[in-house]
Order: sequence, then C-alpha cells, then structure tokens
Amino acid sequence: MTDTETATDCIFCRIARGELGTEFVAESPHAVAFRDIAPQAPTHVLIVPRRHITGLPALTEADAPLVGEMLMLANEVAQREGLSGGYRVLTNVGPDAGQTVDHLHFHVLGGRQLGALG
Ligand code: AMP
Repeated sequence: MTDTETATDCIFCRIARGELGTEFVAESPHAVAFRDIAPQAPTHVLIVPRRHITGLPALTEADAPLVGEMLMLANEVAQREGLSGGYRVLTNVGPDAGQTVDHLHFHVLGGRQLGALG
C-alpha cells in the first residue's frame, strides 16, 4: 500500500490530502501534524499517517519505519511548541479507549501539568 491509497470519506485522509485547508504544524514524507479541533491541553497536536490505516492493530512489521517517523514528528512538534517541561504521546484503540476516528493518530499533549492516565 502506498501513501496515495487513502479513503475518500475519512476525515483524516481528507485533512492529510489538504482538502480541508487544515494548517500543518509539521509534516514528514509519510505523516502530517495538525492541531486537534477540541484541544485538551495548550498543545494538542495529532500525528497522522498520510496513508489510511485504521489504527494500531492494523499495523504490520513493514510499518515499523512509519511508526518511527511518526514518533520523530511528535518530537519535532514538541520542540517547536517549546514543551521543555515534558509532554505525552498516546493513541486510543477501540471503543474502550475512546477512539472516535478510525485512522491511526498519535495525540501529542503538553503545555500544562497532565493528570494520571485512566
Ligand atoms: P480519538 O478520540 O483518540 O479517536 O481522537 C480523535 C481526535 O480527533 C479527537 O481529539 C477530536 O477532537 C479530533 N478531531 C476530530 N475531527 C477533527 C478535525 N476535523 N480536525 C482536527 N481534529 C479533529
């Protein structure tokens, strides 16, 4: 599967394709970073692969470089946002975790003291 294999009606595919005019905070060859529409912290950025991947369980061994690229993009966002005090990177999988968009994404949260997980 290549980066051109995206889903027509997936909101994050549409954003990654630039169809909605969403500003990218940062981008890399295979992923884009943009601000969450309902921020839970002063910095709340989503790291999204350009390719349509439904979530973490859909990844294969071949996607390991992509995941590394996404995490490096998270680091770049944190640096640009000045999150020297720390930040959190997380992904939700399935309804129990509250996944609402079925396109893999890492949340990058920071800019305030973050509470315990759970
Ligand atoms: P999750 O609940 O982990 O699947 O995260 C999905 C996130 O996408 C939520 O935090 C939403 O606020 C965010 N979101 C949904 N639609 C948009 C959009 N059009 N632009 C930016 N963020 C969005």
